[in-house]
Amino acid sequence: MKIKSLALATVLISACGDSASQEATNDASEMHEPSVAILQYHHVSASTPSVTSIAPEQFKAHLDYLKDNDFRVVSIEKAHERIESGESFPAKAVVITFDDGYKNVYHNAADLLEQYNMPYAVFVNPDLMEKSPSAYMGWQQLEDIQQRGATIVNHGQTHDHLIRRHEQETEQEWQERMHYDVMSAQRAIDKNLGEQPKYFAYPYGEYDPALQNLLAQWGFLGFAQHSGPWSPYSDKTAITRFPASGIYANLETLKTKLNSLALPVVNYSPSVPLLAHSEKTPTLQVELEYNEEVRTDALQCFRGSEVLSPEWVSEQTFTVTVRNDLPIGRSRINCTAPSKATDSYYWFSAAFIRPDENGSWPD
Ligand SMILES: [Zn+2]
Repeated sequence: MKIKSLALATVLISACGDSASQEATNDASEMHEPSVAILQYHHVSASTPSVTSIAPEQFKAHLDYLKDNDFRVVSIEKAHERIESGESFPAKAVVITFDDGYKNVYHNAADLLEQYNMPYAVFVNPDLMEKSPSAYMGWQQLEDIQQRGATIVNHGQTHDHLIRRHEQETEQEWQERMHYDVMSAQRAIDKNLGEQPKYFAYPYGEYDPALQNLLAQWGFLGFAQHSGPWSPYSDKTAITRFPASGIYANLETLKTKLNSLALPVVNYSPSVPLLAHSEKTPTLQVELEYNEEVRTDALQCFRGSEVLSPEWVSEQTFTVTVRNDLPIGRSRINCTAPSKATDSYYWFSAAFIRPDENGSWPD
């Protein structure tokens, strides 16, 4: 048993830490439970900051992999419809998204995506587009890609750290600022491109309950940046995506993520990512719904390269505690469990933000 867990841990560290492969064995013709992997890209360029970039030839390798292995790229709206209705997905369904709307997406990705007949979503920042027209696609380019299969959606006006309150800012003032950031961006998008679905990607993937409540009130879905498939178990204002830029562009590890299923999480805490500065080693508690396909005996969690073995407090509820201090800034705990039926892994991620003494953290 010990040896078995150790071997499994190695596979999973590799999967979460990006260095090994897990071949897909699903038959594309079979349907599976409603869950879909969303890929998240930013720049498609070899000359932009590597952490948010994928080189054009590697991007092509991703699309070739999807094409050659019978993945079905579905639009974000189609995926939303299926999740809402609880309809099953074709095996190997995937959604492609880009944050920020960089011009290099227009020049280095749009033609290929059109040629491969793959729909995609681009989350844009109208204020930034105006301020830096050389970096971001303008409305004409967005309209052009919209006509060729893109959905243009909302990433806020300013790309600020929205959950950080300004000094002396009242809750009312903050809400008005959020209203401007989200709603006027949506108005600009709808005015220029026709009414678009109300999907909002949090800048830096950062959200808190107050912002989640506002988005829900205003009828938006909220998309985050920690990993895991989108499923009926997802929080509608914290939908997970798999980052596919920088170190996460590694195609070998992306394969596991593309084939992953949603761990049936019905409750977890803390579900609020922002910790106090002093909370260096948080404990995550997760409650699962019973699903006989999930090998809970082999469930493991990871924080970077740290393996966190679960303590089962009841049949379906476990806790894991971070051992090494969380760094200042954003981090996450990923939990995975193999499927009994296929080679896929069930996946769940919890996001954390640990601020410095002044309540700030790096981009
Ligand atoms: Zn962004």
